[in-house]
Amino acid sequence: MVTAEECFPADIGIEEGRIAQVGSPQRETGTQVVDAQGKWILPGIVDVHTHMELPLEAAVSADDFATGTRAAACGGVTTIIDFSLHRRGDSLEKCFLDRRQAADGRVAVDYGLHAEIIDVNEAILDEIPHMVQKGVTSFKLYMAYRRDGRMVDDGALYAVLKRAGEVGGLVMVHAENGPLLERLTDELLGDEKLAPIFHARSRPNVVEEEAVRRAIAICRLAKGNLYIVHLTTRQALMAVQEARSSALPLWAETCPQYLLLDESAYLSQEGRDFIATPPLRSSKDQEALWRGLAQGTISVISTDHCPFTKEQKRQGGESFAQVPNGLPGVETSLPLIYSQGVDRGRLTPNRLVMAMATNPAKIFGLYPAKGSLEVGTDADVVIFDPQAEFTISAETLHMNTDFSPYEGLQGRGVVQLTVLRGEVIAENGRFCGSCGGGRFLPRRRFEPQQCQL
Ligand SMILES: [Zn+2]
Repeated sequence: MVTAEECFPADIGIEEGRIAQVGSPQRETGTQVVDAQGKWILPGIVDVHTHMELPLEAAVSADDFATGTRAAACGGVTTIIDFSLHRRGDSLEKCFLDRRQAADGRVAVDYGLHAEIIDVNEAILDEIPHMVQKGVTSFKLYMAYRRDGRMVDDGALYAVLKRAGEVGGLVMVHAENGPLLERLTDELLGDEKLAPIFHARSRPNVVEEEAVRRAIAICRLAKGNLYIVHLTTRQALMAVQEARSSALPLWAETCPQYLLLDESAYLSQEGRDFIATPPLRSSKDQEALWRGLAQGTISVISTDHCPFTKEQKRQGGESFAQVPNGLPGVETSLPLIYSQGVDRGRLTPNRLVMAMATNPAKIFGLYPAKGSLEVGTDADVVIFDPQAEFTISAETLHMNTDFSPYEGLQGRGVVQLTVLRGEVIAENGRFCGSCGGGRFLPRRRFEPQQCQL
């Protein structure tokens, strides 16, 4: 068994969807036995950043709640947290209920929702305590995407941080300076610089660093709780490290694509398929992110799963600015982080479990039911073979896209079995659960003192 704290040999007993014993369970007649000799038992992976069936201006992300969570199950993920989609003029509750309607009865793993907020006014602010009570305890704000109408200004960010902070809510920010990157994009397009590499040039590191520092300053003023999604740069990491050392309630996540890939991917034939926001960075940034994870400055690995097909990526024409942003990832995160992180000595096995299961469950109000292997908690369990070899191929993966950014990548570490509340939902890369077998998870309010991670 591998937990966030230790690794030890043990058997595990499951009864009625919960972990009943750890150690040497009694076997009653009729017990189904799984031999995990030589394998690792991990808590089910908790991916707190996915975008199933997300309608962007250019295209709708290719996985819906059914295909995306089936793929998640095959990759050892037993919980996702997706986002409700805020429409101007609608209440947060209406948007939340609409999103539940899209997901309920179709998800193959358990799921929660963060509430996206694109328009901050008194009515929306007044809804925050109510949403927290309903189990939606995290709110997502964009500091970019002004032209899509999703960006909020600094005053709005302050107001949400303050109100959410008062009632045990956590504010997640997409930290990029929107107006700045829009101007840089216009300059590039004006010079006919349309190729995929200019996506990275339109959003240099400082665009993220400045927004992260600003969000931190505003959080301090508002006495809120802040979570930086998809952190990518060494400079922003430094800002997070400084703020955390002054005891600000602040957490950051990064994603496999920023750990494994760099901006040279934009120069390849398939460059546009790699377009995601923030962009892929330099190898210097990669190394800093791995160190940040190993040291605990970065608390969480999520995927920002938002796949598109090659055709969808090409629909907009030649310009990088017209390509729908996002990459597939929910199915491959565990094997990739194991093989590139643990197997290469960059992360301990415990640190992997911490960043991919325990910390996300703690920060987002699901611990210990999720993210742990303690007696009495949900029997969300992964049997993982650290020796088995894999080669990534979009063809054999279950995500609804014909593209994998890791095509051909080889490594060790394969998910053998995924168990959701005691039911086997995937075995050796084959889904055997049911779409609709996942449940909505109302989450507990945010408690900073429980998240001294
Ligand atoms: Zn995202």
